[in-house]
Amino acid sequence: MNSNAGSVDSSLDFDPVVLRRKYEEERNKRIRPDGIGQYLDIDRDFPGFDSDPFMDVEARDAIRESVDVLIVGAGIGGLLAASKLVNVVGVDNIRLIDRAGDFGGTWYWNRYPGARCDVESYIYMPLLEETGYIPREKYSTQEEILEHCARVGDMLGLRRRSLFHTTIDRLQWRADEGGWQVVTDRDDDLHARYVVLATGPLDKAKLPGIPGMENFDGHVFHTNRWDYDYTGARLEKLTDKRVAVIGTGASAIQCVPRLAESAKELLVFQRTPAVINPRDNAPTTPVFAGQLAPGWQSSRMENYTAHVLGILGEGDEDFVDDGWTHACHKLFSVYGSEASTVEEDSAAQEEAELTDFAVMNEVRRRIDKLVTDPATADLLKPWYRFFCKRPLFSDDYLPSFNKSNVRLIDTGGAGVDEICGDAVKVSGVSYGVDCIIFATGFEVGTDFAQRVGFEITGSRGETLSEHWRNGYRTMHGIQVHGFPNLFFVGSGQVGFTLNYPEMADKQAIHVAWLIEAARKRGVTLLEPSASAEQEYLQVVIDAAEASLEFQAQCTPSYLNSEGQPKKGGKGIIDGQYAGGIVEWWRILSEWREQGDLNGLTLR
Ligand code: NDP
Repeated sequence: MNSNAGSVDSSLDFDPVVLRRKYEEERNKRIRPDGIGQYLDIDRDFPGFDSDPFMDVEARDAIRESVDVLIVGAGIGGLLAASKLVNVVGVDNIRLIDRAGDFGGTWYWNRYPGARCDVESYIYMPLLEETGYIPREKYSTQEEILEHCARVGDMLGLRRRSLFHTTIDRLQWRADEGGWQVVTDRDDDLHARYVVLATGPLDKAKLPGIPGMENFDGHVFHTNRWDYDYTGARLEKLTDKRVAVIGTGASAIQCVPRLAESAKELLVFQRTPAVINPRDNAPTTPVFAGQLAPGWQSSRMENYTAHVLGILGEGDEDFVDDGWTHACHKLFSVYGSEASTVEEDSAAQEEAELTDFAVMNEVRRRIDKLVTDPATADLLKPWYRFFCKRPLFSDDYLPSFNKSNVRLIDTGGAGVDEICGDAVKVSGVSYGVDCIIFATGFEVGTDFAQRVGFEITGSRGETLSEHWRNGYRTMHGIQVHGFPNLFFVGSGQVGFTLNYPEMADKQAIHVAWLIEAARKRGVTLLEPSASAEQEYLQVVIDAAEASLEFQAQCTPSYLNSEGQPKKGGKGIIDGQYAGGIVEWWRILSEWREQGDLNGLTLR
């Protein structure tokens, strides 16, 4: 690649000026002034949309009890927090609460056909060495991950300590008790010295505010509450149905191929095409399983992270060796050495952009190879930089559009115009359907209470939503001033990573360490000072510059707060520490090694 700023390199097989203009035009079609405000709040606008279609809610007596630690969320984050508390610190007076009927979090709810994790199972599934479980494939199915979460919960003896199908109504600091009072929709009244919030970053489904959708005559559901009563367990009830899928993100590209095999007619409504890379899934071989030495899972996780953050590159040992690491090798290789001048930095930026164009050209060429109809292939092509939206991996999504019962309805970046009677309308054309499946993702960046469904009131009477009205403010992404003994695991201002369980694991280690440190010192209250919180916020803001500049030029998505990212925001990327999980963990490890709990008020 050539890095001459402003000039077109004749050795390139594309014109960067033309591509730059095309990306901007496509982005401009999608930018909306209402940003994240374009989506509906399901609880307010479609109550009942998120009830549990998978397990019946069993009656039980209300509980009154005091515990050392209450963990909110029994998904991967909650399980990891519990494992550190039980196994490392020896705290066993704990409770888990979850709205779901079992362990699993996102894998409990997202049971749509074809659901799999696109991060390698050997690094994604928690506590594989501790449970002795080896995943069946490189990329696991939802069923296998859900089963594994139950395996972990049972191994840790957490089932009897878990209140499932229970929703928190209120979480309030009680100064007189030096702990938290938790009131639930099952009339439980719990008192906890410490609370761990492991509620997940992508939990509450969102729906686009499409005019008329409340009057749709047919059947409707969201991918994260798949209605198997309607579709049949193997989608056999769809053979006489016209099905609409709205959305073409990670969930849609996994369920569309299954729907394409079953529905009489499948209409896929697209606003922005996704980046689809080859998947290449494979079964786990006995040779692979046999060579795993103790400590393998954490070293594999760390090796993966080093590759996807650009710390390691193509020539280095790459354990996971998949589409994620390969893409990062190509895209991050130009950032290998530190730029020392403004000119060097701008040359590196330009080279990175040219590399990105080349990688995206490969993505677009693959569509031409896999989709027979050239017009449909063109509509499926994404025009933005590789990491603007979350890259996806599939070998069967694109070929689905070669089937005669499948049609792509492209909305030209504007989204569906209207839902009217039994029809979905786009550009004045009505498409009659029996069923609409919203594959429209999850709330990001909205008020914390709106997302989790309950408010948290801290020691100064302030709610967490008020405290975070302008963006996240935390110490280390884990604790909050004014909210003593409250810890976050699995979301927030932690270092960026592509492997969620690694982030949750490290947060859980830190939380367990804090609780142990309090015990050793004989204190029962830990709270970051306002200045410690402000100091960490500044670290987050300082690190955000380059990432925000990139995000601001991207096509809108939940990653960049629908095109309106801001420093210290509440989105997935702008809410995180852009310095990456490795640097973030170094900051926290050094802080722990200092041993003086600097920045925390102890009582
Ligand atoms: P996404 O937010 O990725 O996708 C939502 C889709 O809905 C987008 O295609 C969006 O278009 C579309 N949309 C929104 N509003 C409209 C509208 N008015 N008209 C038409 N289309 C509309 O949600 P997903 O559930 O697919 O995925 C969310 C995240 O969950 C993933 O990015 C990933 O992090 C995680 N996930 C992970 C999986 C894994 O394998 N690890 C599997 C599934 C999900 P537009 O792009 O224009 O906004």
